[in-house]
Amino acid sequence: MTFLALYEYKTAMSFADFPEQKQGVQLLQRSLERGRLAHAYLFGGHHLAELEALARTLAKTLNCQNPKRATANGPAIDCCDECAVCRKIDAENHGDVHWVRPESKSRVVTIDQMRDLMHEIHLKPNEAEYKVATIVAADRLNVQAANAFLKTLEEPPPKSILILLTTEPQRILETIISRCLRLNFAGEGTRKLATAQLEWLTAFGEMAAAEQKSLLGRYRLLGVLLKRLGELKGDIEKALTARSPLERYDDLDPKLREKWEDELAASIEAEYRLQRSDLLALLQWWLRDVWMQTMGLNGGELLSFPQISSAGAVAKRISSEQAIKNLQVLERMQRLLGSNVQEALALEVGLLELSL
Ligand SMILES: [Zn+2]
Repeated sequence: MTFLALYEYKTAMSFADFPEQKQGVQLLQRSLERGRLAHAYLFGGHHLAELEALARTLAKTLNCQNPKRATANGPAIDCCDECAVCRKIDAENHGDVHWVRPESKSRVVTIDQMRDLMHEIHLKPNEAEYKVATIVAADRLNVQAANAFLKTLEEPPPKSILILLTTEPQRILETIISRCLRLNFAGEGTRKLATAQLEWLTAFGEMAAAEQKSLLGRYRLLGVLLKRLGELKGDIEKALTARSPLERYDDLDPKLREKWEDELAASIEAEYRLQRSDLLALLQWWLRDVWMQTMGLNGGELLSFPQISSAGAVAKRISSEQAIKNLQVLERMQRLLGSNVQEALALEVGLLELSL
């Protein structure tokens, strides 16, 4: 991305101006078209300026006087970028479109800022169809500010939408993440995978797409996941042990031996956690493909794994809402695993909760 492109985010834009974010933008537009917008979104990506521009474009689209529509009288799916309302929102002086940014000194979003915002959101709209509130850098919400905000986040007033932006989703509190629908604007297209990963995901997807109504079926799926994790752990142990100095000395000082053994165990655990997280991320991407297809988005260039057909089969029998819940289940599973909860339990609870 060029400097010029970043600079240009400041000026007017419509959804058509984000060719690199086609996947996320199409999901938003499809939701607009179906009147299925979520009440709270978390936009993740690499550039806050770009995420702000996307949030602004959504605010404009919801309130534009002359929007582009999918059908003659259908809902708006993009803004005109020219009308008085669009210009007002661009200039950030629209009474119903609010922005909260980390305060300059401490770089955090404070509880006072959030209280002001919640007050505004609960007032009747001044001039707009929709109230839109965007929290720029939601990872900078301090704990009190986040807690004060949870209830509003869970149940915003009708005709209002909350948009949280972040370049560091791993720093956002679980309680916040679980109440938002997460959209990825990191601009990643079709995933390139190692053969072993692709084979595993294909097998997992096929098993999920086959009859899964029984508890037994679900535990079989868990078994496939646990087996792969066991293999990963075994490979990591082998590779890291071979590299450890322990292998090179026979008559080590016991204290030194103990230290090296501890270090080896710690590095095995750290690497395993990374790879486990990557494996679950694969499942998340596959479940995202399921969700896209429940929305009727099945163009090859939009899917992460167009070569894996099982996502389409699952999409045929669950609703978009269920598909979204699945994504949230995986998010939560990742968070739980990151917080030292017992692995087998977190995986089992998560897998049993999935709608497949
Ligand atoms: Zn407009």
